[in-house]
Amino acid sequence: MTAPVLSPRKSTLLELAARSPRPEMDGVASVPTSAYFGMNTFGARQMRDKLPKDVYAKLAAAIRHGKKLDIDVAPTVAQVIKEWAIGRGVTHFTHWFQPQTGLTAEKHDAFLSFDDNKQPMESFTGAQLIQSEPDASSFPSGGLRATWEARGYTAWNPASPVFIVESGNTRTLCIPSVFIGYNGEALDEMTPLLRSSDVLSQKAIALLELLGEGGIQRVYTTLGAEQEYFLIDRKHFALRPDLVMSGRSLVGAPPPRGQQLEDHYFGGIPERIQACISEVEHELYKLGVPIVTRHNEVAPCQFEMAPMFEETDIAVDHNQMVMSVLRKVALRHGLQAVLHEKPFAGINGSGKHCNWSLSIAADNPDLDGQNLLKPGKTPHQNLRFLVFLAAVLRGVHRHAGLLRAGIATSGNEHRLGANEAPPAIISVFMGAMLTRVIEAIAAGKSSANAAQAMIKLGVARLPEIEKDNTDRNRTSPFAFTGNKFEFRAVGSSASIAFPIVLLNAAVAEAIGEITEQIRANMKRGRSVDDVVLAVVREVFKETATIRFEGNNYSEEWVKEAAKRGLPNLRRSPEALDQLLTRSSRALLTKLGIFTKAELESRFHVRLERYIKDMLIEAHTLTEILDTHVLPAAFSYSGELATSAAHAASAGITSVPQVAAANEVGTMIEALVSARNALVDLLTKAEHLHDDAPKQAKLLTSGVADAMAAARACSDALELKISDELWPLPKYREMLFPV
Ligand code: ADP
Ligand code: MG
Repeated sequence: MTAPVLSPRKSTLLELAARSPRPEMDGVASVPTSAYFGMNTFGARQMRDKLPKDVYAKLAAAIRHGKKLDIDVAPTVAQVIKEWAIGRGVTHFTHWFQPQTGLTAEKHDAFLSFDDNKQPMESFTGAQLIQSEPDASSFPSGGLRATWEARGYTAWNPASPVFIVESGNTRTLCIPSVFIGYNGEALDEMTPLLRSSDVLSQKAIALLELLGEGGIQRVYTTLGAEQEYFLIDRKHFALRPDLVMSGRSLVGAPPPRGQQLEDHYFGGIPERIQACISEVEHELYKLGVPIVTRHNEVAPCQFEMAPMFEETDIAVDHNQMVMSVLRKVALRHGLQAVLHEKPFAGINGSGKHCNWSLSIAADNPDLDGQNLLKPGKTPHQNLRFLVFLAAVLRGVHRHAGLLRAGIATSGNEHRLGANEAPPAIISVFMGAMLTRVIEAIAAGKSSANAAQAMIKLGVARLPEIEKDNTDRNRTSPFAFTGNKFEFRAVGSSASIAFPIVLLNAAVAEAIGEITEQIRANMKRGRSVDDVVLAVVREVFKETATIRFEGNNYSEEWVKEAAKRGLPNLRRSPEALDQLLTRSSRALLTKLGIFTKAELESRFHVRLERYIKDMLIEAHTLTEILDTHVLPAAFSYSGELATSAAHAASAGITSVPQVAAANEVGTMIEALVSARNALVDLLTKAEHLHDDAPKQAKLLTSGVADAMAAARACSDALELKISDELWPLPKYREMLFPV
C-alpha cells in the first residue's frame, strides 16, 4: 500500500510540529540596551554635537515651534546627516510620511550623483532634506484634489529624528515628513496632528496664565500606545486566503477550547514567540523606540507591547514603526503578525490603548515636565488638575460621537461592543475616589471659598487617586488612570493620529471655553481660585451623563446610556456621519485643524476605505466558499455516497452513511442559498458605486449580515466534514500551535 497523500493543511501541521524547539536568536544582541538604543537615529542631541552653534540654534527653534527649517541652514544640516548616514552604509534616502492609508509611505532616491567630470559621488542637498515631491495622485485624498492638480509635497518635520531602516543589506535614510497639497491642504495624518497640538498648546497656555502660571513655552500632549497583536505560524496564514486578503478569518468554527481557561493572559511567553519579540524589540531599540513592556494577552496567540510614553507626534511615528517592524521581523521567525482588530471570531480582538495626558514645557525647571492631569501637592495645584479634568470631561461629553467616528473602521466594528472590548458608546470612567470628589464639588454652592472647599471636599487627598485607579474598570472606553486618560476603544491596526487629533480638538475647545468663562466671571474682590472652582462645578454638573463607573458590557448600560442621550453608534458608516455634524464642523474648522474641504475629504477617505474593506471581505468570502468549502463538502458528500453504495452492495443492512449524506446535503443546500443571497446583495452593493453613503449602508447591514449567515453554514459544515478533506487551517491549529 502506498502512503496516503497528505493535504497541504495536514502536511503543514506535521511540518510545524517537527520544528526544532530551540528558536534562532541570532538577531538579538547580548549587550545592554542602553549601549545601542537609538543608534539608527539622528536627532537633536547628535545634531547639537555636529552642527555649528548658530545653525543648531535655528534648527532647535524650528523643532520647538514646529516650523519649517530655513533654507539657508538646511544645506549644513543635510551635510552632517549625509555624513552620518553614509558612515552607516546608507545609499538612499526617502521622505517618510503617513498618507491616509493607515500606513507609511516612502520613495527612495539614491545619494548617487555625478560631478562636473562625470565622476560618481554621494550628494544630499538641503532642498532634498526639507522637501520632496512625490506624485500625490495615487494617495487617498477623498476628492480634495482632482487628478490633474494632484501636486503635493512632503516637508521634513524636524521635531522627529531622521532614522535608518535596515532591510537585508540595504540601508535607507528615512526623513519623517508631513504631506501637503500645493495649496497647503493636509493630505496626511501628521499635519492635522501638529495643528491640533499647536492649538491645544495655545489654549492651555492661556488658561494656565489665567491661573497664575507664567513662563510656559508650550503645553504638549503625551502618548503611550499599548499595541495588541496576534502571532500565528506563517504556514497556516499562507493557507488562509481570508487572513491574507482581509487580515481576519471570514470562516472558522470555534474550537472547544478558546480563552475560557484564562491561562494565556500574563502566561509564560513561549520560547519561539519570545525569540521573535526580542528581535522586534532589538530592532525598535536601534530606532529609538522605547518599548518597555511585553506580555501575553487574553486570547491564545495574542500579545501586547507597550512603550514608555513620549510626546504625541513622536509616539505616532513610533507606533507606525512598531507595526512595521513587528510585521517584518515576525516573518524571519516563520510567524505572521496579525494586527487586525478581530482576526478570530469568538475570542478577544486587539486594541491599541492610547494613554494620553498633557504636560508643560517651561524654562522654569520646577514647572517643566509637569503633568497637568496629575494631582499636585497644594490645593492650588489640585485646582489646576481639576480644571483640566473638567476640560477633558466637557470635550468628551460634547464630542462623544465625533470621538467614536475617529475609531470607526471595518475592523474595529467587530470589536467595539463585542463584550470583550469597550462598547461603541463613549463614556468616561473616573474611579471611586475622584467620582466622590467630583460629585461633592458638583453638589456644593458656587459661592464657596475655593481654598476651604478644597480641604473640605477632600481634594487635598487627591494624590491618592493614582493608587486608587490602578485597579480600574477595564470595560470603559475612556478611563482616567490616575495621571492620564486611557482611550481604550482605538483599534489595533489603525494609525492613532486621527483619534488623537479629535481628542486634542475636543479638549482644546473646552479649555478655551473654560478660560472665557473664568474671565467673564472675574469680578473685583473675587479670587481667581474661587471663580475657577465655580466654573469647574458647572462643568462637572453639565457633564454628569458622560461619567459611568459600571460594567460597560452590560445590557443595562446600553439602556441607561440611551436614557442619558449618549450616542450608541454601532456601525462605522453611522459613526463616520459624526464627522460632518454641525458641532464637529464648527469644532474642527474654528480651531484651524481642518478646513471645511479637508474635513469632508477625511469623511470620504474613511467611508471609501470602509466600503473597500467590506467589498474585499465579501469577495474573499465568496471565493473561499466556492473554491474551498463547497468543493470539500461535495467531496465528502461523494465519499459518503460511495461508502454507502459499497456497504449496500456488500449486503450490509445498517447504512448510517445515507443519513449522514442527507444531513450534509441539507447543510450544503443551506450554504449554497446563503452564498447566493450574499452574492445577490454584493452585486446590488457594487451597483451603488456612485453613491458611497448608500453603498456603505447596504454593506454594513445587508452584506455584513449575509456574510455572517453564510459563515454560520460554513462553520457548521467544518464541524461535520472529514478532517482529511477540510482545506483551511482550523482555529484550533492556528491558535494552539503544537
Ligand atoms: P496597563 O496595561 O495597565 O494599562 P501599561 O503599563 O501596559 O499599563 O501601559 C501604560 C502606558 O501608559 C505606558 O505606555 C505608559 O508609558 C503610558 N503612560 C504613563 N504615563 C503617561 C502619561 N503621563 N501620558 C501618556 N502616557 C502615559
Ligand atoms: Mg497594558
